[in-house]
Amino acid sequence: MSAAINDCIFCKIIAGEIPSKRIYEDEEFLSFLDIFPASRGHSLVIPKKHHEDIHTISADLYGQLATSAKKVADFLQRKLGSEGTTIFQMNREAGWQTVFHIHMHVIPRWSGDSLHKPWDIAPADESELAVLHKLLTE
Ligand code: AMP
Ligand code: ZN
Repeated sequence: MSAAINDCIFCKIIAGEIPSKRIYEDEEFLSFLDIFPASRGHSLVIPKKHHEDIHTISADLYGQLATSAKKVADFLQRKLGSEGTTIFQMNREAGWQTVFHIHMHVIPRWSGDSLHKPWDIAPADESELAVLHKLLTE
């Protein structure tokens, strides 16, 4: 195993310098159990090469990361009998990222479990939506 080249905790997990409970691994990606799980089986999927977030990783590798997350989601559903799956992927401090090595959260879900949505559900202001749409499509 090569030594982690920086202070990144996930690079250290990849290098075997700190322990993890690995559940899936291939040439380029690794998945392990989250130690502060939102649900039973909550796992993280990471690329073995260090990339910080969605804005710095290539579209191609991001797509491969999503493919790995899908494999892990199917695996967890099969093994745990979960009824649904929530995928989270935070980017940068403002996007709630706390470990700056890109990762996808794969969270097995059950009806009536204790998770709740991270935003309040409220209808958009129609005129604001129209202005925004114009900005984004001009
Ligand atoms: P985020 O807030 O999206 O950056 O997610 C970081 C996640 O990494 C959190 O859910 C933490 O619980 C998880 N985490 C941090 N350190 C470890 C570790 N050593 N092993 C497993 N999961 C970790
Ligand atoms: Zn890293």
